[in-house]
Amino acid sequence: MVDDTMTKIIRLCQSIDENGSKIYESLSQNAQNEDLTAFWQKFYKDALHHLSYWTKLLSYAENGEIPQVLENPDETFEELSTIHTKTVKLLEKAEKTNEIEKAFLMAFKLEFYLIHPAVETLFQYLKPFSNGTTPQVNYNYNTNINTLFNGLHKHGLVTMELELLGETLHRLWKENMKMAIQSNYDSLTSILNRRGIFNSIIPLSHLAQRNNSNVGIMMIDIDHFKKVNDTYGHRYGDGVLKFVTKTIKSNLRTSDILGRYGGEEFFVFLSSVESDSIREVGEKIRSSIEQASDNEAGITISIGMAQSRIHGMKEVEIEQELDELINKADEKLYEAKEAGRNKVIM
Ligand code: GH3
Ligand code: MG
Ligand code: MG
Repeated sequence: MVDDTMTKIIRLCQSIDENGSKIYESLSQNAQNEDLTAFWQKFYKDALHHLSYWTKLLSYAENGEIPQVLENPDETFEELSTIHTKTVKLLEKAEKTNEIEKAFLMAFKLEFYLIHPAVETLFQYLKPFSNGTTPQVNYNYNTNINTLFNGLHKHGLVTMELELLGETLHRLWKENMKMAIQSNYDSLTSILNRRGIFNSIIPLSHLAQRNNSNVGIMMIDIDHFKKVNDTYGHRYGDGVLKFVTKTIKSNLRTSDILGRYGGEEFFVFLSSVESDSIREVGEKIRSSIEQASDNEAGITISIGMAQSRIHGMKEVEIEQELDELINKADEKLYEAKEAGRNKVIM
């Protein structure tokens, strides 16, 4: 087993959500009328869907296919353990409750437990394992809180306290999302930052290894960018970074990874690519930048590329192979610069 911490964390998340689904199931079983039964039933079904997400991830984790990337895994585990204990207690209460107001309070309480920054960070990071989606697509805390609110209104239960609770949860959820996004994305271009790149390509490399697919890496650097800044100003330079981002993106598939590796350097990871087509993709990117109609400053880019199959099984081996590929692409980028820039070299 590659990393026990990650498996333990995912198992804990699964167990928390299992309790969540049971809580909603109890609320639905103990509801006073059909309306409310259906109301809680909907939450129960969503929670079950959520649960299947963790079940799938757990099987990857148990095969050692999910590397550990959390900054403080032990701390996360402790925090999730506390949440888990709380959901156990909440479930005991939910099984005995048939008061409408208490049921709503419990639901709010549960949603509050589920809005944990560690959970959101996990979702973002684990995206590649679920075809680029997070459970947010099917199970959205924000929607849940709104639905709870509508339910409160419908049953004439809105009190100032409950209202405040709902608003607090809503804000907390938004802040969490923001934090998870900020730590993985670049604010200027909205693509992944260096940290986000590694968080994404490591799990994708595990998948590529399993599927025996060829992966490709491109290092893309804007030519004479310092001169662009000096001539047109830094703000114009920022605009160029956005233009280059947009143009590269338009030549990639949604399953490819694009990130800002450093100042005016971009990184592309193609998780499944035929050896012949990677060069074509690179050439397409290079020429579309050169030919873009909004390219007044005559911006060009140089691209260095490398490709390979991933052989390693363990996380350290995969990271080492990725390092080697990145170094190779870097060397080729240097060659492209030496050869006069505006070139693609593999
Ligand atoms: P080369 O063709 O060899 O790559 O030359 P270059 O001028 O592009 O390379 P160099 O590394 O000398 O300069 C990179 C410049 O990129 C310097 C730095 O001020 C600029 N830069 C880095 N990040 C940003 C940014 O966020 N915005 C702007 N406007 N400029 C940036
Ligand atoms: Mg440059
Ligand atoms: Mg550079």
